[in-house]
Amino acid sequence: MSGSSPAERLSEVRDAIGKAARLAKRSPEEVTLIAVSKTHPAEAIIPQLEAGHRHFGENRVQEAEAKWPALRERYRDVTLHLIGRLQSNKAEEAVALFDCIHSVDRASLVNALARATEKTGRSPDCLIQVNIGEEPQKGGCPVAELPALLELGRDVGLAVTGLMCIPPADVEAAPFFALLAKLARRHSLPALSMGMSADFETAVTIGATHVRVGTALFGERG
Ligand SMILES: *Cc1c(COP(=O)(O)O)cnc(C)c1O
Repeated sequence: MSGSSPAERLSEVRDAIGKAARLAKRSPEEVTLIAVSKTHPAEAIIPQLEAGHRHFGENRVQEAEAKWPALRERYRDVTLHLIGRLQSNKAEEAVALFDCIHSVDRASLVNALARATEKTGRSPDCLIQVNIGEEPQKGGCPVAELPALLELGRDVGLAVTGLMCIPPADVEAAPFFALLAKLARRHSLPALSMGMSADFETAVTIGATHVRVGTALFGERG
């Protein structure tokens, strides 16, 4: 991913997604590229917006609140994805700002999001983050607790559309992506958010519908 301009990097990543999709006999249109703009200022984001990109990911509510309302005045059709850990006391702000929340991982947060949805009248798509490598230090719902969390999500009326994972670092990601895909099929969930700069092509061949790519589009984070 060596393209020098933001637009070149964008088209390189899109091409790579297209190749991986065709390898797996999938249509590239099934894959949404989320440009992860966390830590990057508006000046770094605008070239991607000017190049026509519209899906962006942030990992912190406060940072997103500082950057995106102004950008959205100019680029009204942006879709914002929250990909980082969410505290229950920020649920209302998150629901007000984001169109899709990828990091729903516990019952207390499901309940907080349901209350926030009722209060704001906004109902973002919600993905359950699964702790696919059973890593104690990581967020995400344990695999064994996924059925109960999905049932709670349905009971309280959240729009749960899929699953998300961050596989363990420094090992082959494919088996973890395959497990997440299997869990999504088992529960008839259409959305599968998996794959980052290092492994998004692998994720696309295994069924990702959303890839979250930061470094390959924006360069290293400071
Ligand atoms: C930062 C981040 C990404 C993007 O990672 P890159 O390696 O920079 O592409 C994707 N997903 C999550 C949850 C992140 O926090």
